[in-house]
Amino acid sequence: GGTIGIIGGGQLGRMVALAAAPLGIRCHVFDPHEAPCAADVAAAFTRASFDDVAALETFAAACDIVTYEFENLPVGPLATIAHKLRPGTESLRIAQDRAAEKAFVEAAGGRPAAWRTVDSLADLDAAVEALGLPLVLKTRRDGYDGKGQAWLRDAADAADVLASLGHKPLVAEQAISFEAEFSVVLARGLDGAVAFFDSTRNIHADGILRQSVLPAGDLIERQVPAARAQAAAIAERLGHVGVLTVEYFACADGPLVNEIAPRVHNSGHWTIEGAVTSQFAQHVRAVCGLPLGNPERRATRITMDNLIGDDVARWPALVADPAAHLHLYGKGAPRPGRKMGHVTRLA
Ligand code: ATP
Ligand code: MG
Ligand code: MG
Repeated sequence: GGTIGIIGGGQLGRMVALAAAPLGIRCHVFDPHEAPCAADVAAAFTRASFDDVAALETFAAACDIVTYEFENLPVGPLATIAHKLRPGTESLRIAQDRAAEKAFVEAAGGRPAAWRTVDSLADLDAAVEALGLPLVLKTRRDGYDGKGQAWLRDAADAADVLASLGHKPLVAEQAISFEAEFSVVLARGLDGAVAFFDSTRNIHADGILRQSVLPAGDLIERQVPAARAQAAAIAERLGHVGVLTVEYFACADGPLVNEIAPRVHNSGHWTIEGAVTSQFAQHVRAVCGLPLGNPERRATRITMDNLIGDDVARWPALVADPAAHLHLYGKGAPRPGRKMGHVTRLA
């Protein structure tokens, strides 16, 4: 029994709520939008701003614990409900600022791409000097699905690129010529127990995940043990409770950390049908202080394809395909780059 509060009402919150139901757990969604897709499957919905402390306190009082499905949340207001929050504010604080995150990863023994903070044209010149070209600039905060990023290929474009990113605080990263991308999706329980899902090969286009594939291939499989050790060290150091995802670049000389997500992750959607316990059920178990479930995969070959924007128009064929597990998020009108659903196939 009990009620989990979920801050953020997107598809991740929706799939957490759907996974809580079989455990007899109800979900209460908190989101500023009018009709977020998670609210459709939740027992209760509070519409309020993420920095509305009074609304957060009332919400937390109605829930046994509170989790979040989105890391770009104001830490100050959430600190007022810290006693109910899992994962805690430290996971949020680190994962929402790319500079804090990279410093944290280094301190935990992980290796990010070479990076610098950039707050001015002079900083960018220094970053070009130190990191070379091309490099990628990312806003320190609020980016997702490749938003808030720009490549700098020619030093003459430096001022224009800063303007295109709205002169926000940035990090500059060296361009990585990776062989492949993968992620470690783990869960850490209240007792510190850690369970890992199998690592998929992740294929991105335009900064958005298109597909996750298992098996991930020899190169990734060789790098997974080191990546798991780093991800577990990061989770431990954060005092993280719940699912944590670390995205990696598989390079010729080993894994480089791309970024951390203190939550369930798109590259773990395959676990709904493909693992004994899904990442969503695992997150519910962890934040509720229940024993972690079995993360083993249930098929040899698994693919998860995102339905992005107009891809969702293919749903009639997908729903008729007996090999396809179709998930539609109920988000209404497709927009370019918007994640509308996904489809998983097991073999
Ligand atoms: P998410 O939706 O995963 O949170 P995001 O907006 O935070 O995405 P990143 O994960 O930083 O974006 O980058 C998106 C993709 O862009 C990466 O998965 C990778 O394919 C590419 N990319 C990012 N940084 C680099 C880099 N330094 N070198 C090469 N490619 C990169
Ligand atoms: Mg990100
Ligand atoms: Mg990413």
